[in-house]
Amino acid sequence: MRKDRRDFLKMSAAATGALVAGAASAAETPVTADFSRAYGVLVDTVLCVGCRKCEQACYLAHSHCKKDPESLLDRTVFEESRRPDECAYTVVNRFVDPDRPDRNFWMKAQCMHCNQPACVSACIVGALTKDWRGPVVYDTWKCIGCRYCFLACPFDILAYEYNNALDPQVRKCTFCHERMAEPGFRPACVKVCPGGALTYGTREQLIDLALLRIKQSPEKYIDRIYGQHEVGGTSWMYLAGVDFAKTSLPEPGDQPISSLTETIQHGVFKSFVPPLALYGLLGLIMHSLKDNG
Ligand code: SF4
Ligand code: SF4
Ligand code: SF4
Repeated sequence: MRKDRRDFLKMSAAATGALVAGAASAAETPVTADFSRAYGVLVDTVLCVGCRKCEQACYLAHSHCKKDPESLLDRTVFEESRRPDECAYTVVNRFVDPDRPDRNFWMKAQCMHCNQPACVSACIVGALTKDWRGPVVYDTWKCIGCRYCFLACPFDILAYEYNNALDPQVRKCTFCHERMAEPGFRPACVKVCPGGALTYGTREQLIDLALLRIKQSPEKYIDRIYGQHEVGGTSWMYLAGVDFAKTSLPEPGDQPISSLTETIQHGVFKSFVPPLALYGLLGLIMHSLKDNG
């Protein structure tokens, strides 16, 4: 498989025709407007105790990197803010409420599995696709390593194996979709969470649950479900006790970014804009969106 993929990379680099075909495949990625029955996870940061067990479970379920699993429960990492990387598909960060400096809260970060993912529409060879069940799935065999998806992602979540010279891959939370068909499935991180901070269900169920928690405990929660509308809605959603501006989550607006990246891709392949120009164009748009967020 690995050899086949390297051959594919070489062929892809040489064959403009393959890219044009890929552009069509990216553009044709089906986008369903109603994701209410697709699955997602509600991350309730009010209930999160910062134990990092979700990080450890994710690592045990997926990682190819060599780490001592016990080290993944070390809470001294909270001294710094971290983002997911090629060895950690999810990370937990600690935040301090500026209005209540005595109070910490924790927030898990991973791919949001957007309903209309910008990474999917930016990928010129269709290596990223949105599964109707919720996950955004990466196909290493199709990936040519261009990393347009990195620029497109409004949550800055993708990681790349820069140290893997032979077969570098894009890495991100898979939503544990490899086991999704198993009876009683729940993602590995959800299974181990001791405080009930992670709930797996359909988007419809999760929004109902979030609204109920906000209604029942208005003193604990702010009246917002992050991910319900942002970038057209995401499969992973958040509840918080403080304004989301005090967290690391961006304010990318409700408009799906995929509509912008698709427009660019179509324009690029219609007029054969060189890849470097495309990279610059995507970067410019994403930076301006983040600045305006
Ligand atoms: S969070 Fe980023 S990587 Fe994940 S689906 Fe959305 S755009 Fe893609
Ligand atoms: S859903 Fe799976 S891959 Fe994603 S953070 Fe949880 S354990 Fe890791
Ligand atoms: S396992 Fe649950 S409580 Fe522990 S850090 Fe992760 S989300 Fe928070």
